Amino acid sequence: MYTCKETIELLTTADIRPLTLREKLGVKMHTMLCKICNAYNKQVKIIKRALQKHEISDVEAQQAVKNISKTLSANSEFLH
Ligand SMILES: [Zn+2]
Repeated sequence: MYTCKETIELLTTADIRPLTLREKLGVKMHTMLCKICNAYNKQVKIIKRALQKHEISDVEAQQAVKNISKTLSANSEFLH
């Protein structure tokens, strides 16, 4: 089972390279059980969708993802 930190890293990595089946399953399992990572995953998906529709720019999207990550680290006492 991945930790929150590993899960979030993998969710970010998914933009750079395709995840292996093992990684995908691990991330899926974790996000199903962890509210924080589930919320993170959803936010990132919303941002990506907005990016694809050109509702927001690359820079805005990167900033938004950074903000979410920052919020998560600030709440790291909830992370497992
Ligand atoms: Zn988590």
